[in-house]
Amino acid sequence: MIGLQDIRPIEFPGLESGAPIVIAGPCGAETEQQTLETARALSGIGVKVFRAGVWKPRTMPGGFEGVGDRGLQWLQRVKQETGMAVATEVATIEHVRAALDAGIDILWVGARTTANPFAIQDIADALQGHDDVTVLVKNPVNPDLDLWLGALQRIYNAGITRLGAVHRGFSSAGTHIYRNDPQWHIPFELRRRAPHMTILCDPSHIGGKREYVESLCQLAMDVGFDGLMIESHCAPDHALSDSAQQITPSALEDILSRLVVRSGTPIEDELGLLRQQIDDCDHELLAVLARRMSVSREIGRFKKAHNLRIVQPDRYQEMIKARLEEAETHGLSRDFIERVLQAIHEESVQQQL
Ligand code: PEP
Ligand code: MN
Repeated sequence: MIGLQDIRPIEFPGLESGAPIVIAGPCGAETEQQTLETARALSGIGVKVFRAGVWKPRTMPGGFEGVGDRGLQWLQRVKQETGMAVATEVATIEHVRAALDAGIDILWVGARTTANPFAIQDIADALQGHDDVTVLVKNPVNPDLDLWLGALQRIYNAGITRLGAVHRGFSSAGTHIYRNDPQWHIPFELRRRAPHMTILCDPSHIGGKREYVESLCQLAMDVGFDGLMIESHCAPDHALSDSAQQITPSALEDILSRLVVRSGTPIEDELGLLRQQIDDCDHELLAVLARRMSVSREIGRFKKAHNLRIVQPDRYQEMIKARLEEAETHGLSRDFIERVLQAIHEESVQQQL
């Protein structure tokens, strides 16, 4: 069977060889005016592929669920007027049919859909016989490489060879600076399994905030992604979805002008990546400590209101014992954890006071 290792890079017309492909556009097409205004500005800064979701998967009902099929006409206008290729998200058979009928050049499968093999198979079946369309598969919301590979394989099996992947990070429990945890080793393993396949990075959905977009773009270039999918809106603060992470076309122009693209074969700067992971861990540690201290202050207020002693030795001894046992199951040294816990406890008492 032909496998993912045989997938060739997607060729994007008008792109200099070696230059990263940049797909940009709003999270969602909201109005014809917003879509066209954003598209004209992006075309003006040299973007060749325009993205806009017309069907938006929202976590909660009542959010902006996209304008539906009529948004496809706005994308057609973008294509006619600017000559950019256009891309939108598809999640159902009906979406695929409508997007293909409207001549959309690139269909992308969103993270929530990639996590569902039934939905992916439906999409793959609907794509049969349309081997001129380009399909990009975002990673599943959960950090499961096999689900990602499986989705790519199902679409490849349907005859789609202009096939690529988009890394947009993974949902994670707990505190993290980014909206979606990058877990870079997962796209790297994908690269190993499909060495020639186009793999893009979506810094907007990873970062979740516009201030993280630039550093994530540079990191993506440094570790050898083939391009970027970036959310850009003519008025980001008024965007109906993902407002905090969208940037103006002019901010995108600045970011792209500063972007350093390394030539030659992609380097996977392992040390840089490991350092990035350390930074991420430290950010998490600090956020968790801040949360813990805030709970301590809450306890302090409660104890004061109920006339209780701040330090209750039995509770402290029990807690230390349980934590040390737990630490051992993680392979952490007793001595080290005892020191850390003592320091935390001392500060916690201060906070309660
Ligand atoms: C999007 O690109 O706007 C989107 C919904 O992405 P994801 O599937 O990565 O959440
Ligand atoms: Mn979005």
